[in-house]
Amino acid sequence: MIPMFTPEPQHQALRDEINQAVQQVLDSGRYLMGPNVHALEEDMARYLGTRHTVACASGTDALHLALLALGIGAGDEVITTPFTFAATAEAIRYTGATPVFVDIDPDTFNIDPDRISEAITPATRAVIPVHIFGQPANMEAVNAIAKENGLEVIEDCAQSQGATRGGQQTGALGTLGCFSFFPTKNLGCYGDGGMVSTNSDEMAAILRALRHHGNAEDGNHRMLGYNSRLDEIQAAILRIKLPHVSAALQGRRAVAQRYHDALAELPGVTPPHQDPGGEHTFNQYTILADNRDALRTHLHEQGIASAIHYVQPLNQYPAFRSARLGSELTNAEWVCQRCMSLPIWPDMPADTTDIVIAQVRGASRSA
Ligand SMILES: *Cc1c(COP(=O)(O)O)cnc(C)c1O
Repeated sequence: MIPMFTPEPQHQALRDEINQAVQQVLDSGRYLMGPNVHALEEDMARYLGTRHTVACASGTDALHLALLALGIGAGDEVITTPFTFAATAEAIRYTGATPVFVDIDPDTFNIDPDRISEAITPATRAVIPVHIFGQPANMEAVNAIAKENGLEVIEDCAQSQGATRGGQQTGALGTLGCFSFFPTKNLGCYGDGGMVSTNSDEMAAILRALRHHGNAEDGNHRMLGYNSRLDEIQAAILRIKLPHVSAALQGRRAVAQRYHDALAELPGVTPPHQDPGGEHTFNQYTILADNRDALRTHLHEQGIASAIHYVQPLNQYPAFRSARLGSELTNAEWVCQRCMSLPIWPDMPADTTDIVIAQVRGASRSA
């Protein structure tokens, strides 16, 4: 079976270092809010080129806390893409605000900046562009519209750690950047974890309070806070993995290039479009296929995993019935009917990639 992803090669390469670091945390007796979280926050801020990062329990929490830090809540509207993982819109709903979905660009699968302007009302407070599949959204356009209309920009960087646009890291392009350390992401830990990046001292201070019961460190609870801490074991592991992110992304890009070279001319299949304005990190390698469901069945029969990211635009799910549509969502609907992701991980061997390629080509010939 060829899986969608496996952490195995990366784990094996760093196994001894990770075992040692985990053992050190266990022996230290300090399991939360200790030296590893502190050091990871500094390492990540340096990596991203932002003044601050604040670690938290998950990417979903990162989005939720970021919205709360901006004071967003009931009566407010937040514009985002319907072509994303549910967490993006869940976080908006947790605050009591209304998600407003606008359509995507059918080539990059990212939010279409032209649709954002049309969706703005007096209630609009923020935009959440998602760097979907690891490809940066058109942040120059998003930021220009946000500035013109007094909106905050929260980047959903859950899939885009290490991606750059205009030479800057995603997470350093908006007011706040939200990261996930879920194991399959570009920088994955061995459980759940997340982080918010920001250049604002004020936002960083509020986020530190929010993740820790409203700042209970001095016994005072300045605000309604949460328990959303990253633990020391995960932080220690992430500190070891962070310096290897660029190599891992090189690995993902090499796999993507191999797929691209083999699939670009194949009838009925469209490989992912790469926007020259940014650098794609291929957290997912997502193609469009005319006979998607038949192709997936064929791959499954050959022992090759595939996945649909995403089955439906988020507005079609019961949890988001109360959302507002800021535009028609024709592109998102069209993409959802054709998209499928192929196996990819940083150290995916070329001959494994070639097996997938051969079966995609074989299915396309017999269709
Ligand atoms: C994974 C993901 C999240 C949520 O991250 P978790 O760490 O799983 O909570 C949010 N947004 C997007 C786009 C994601 O892919």
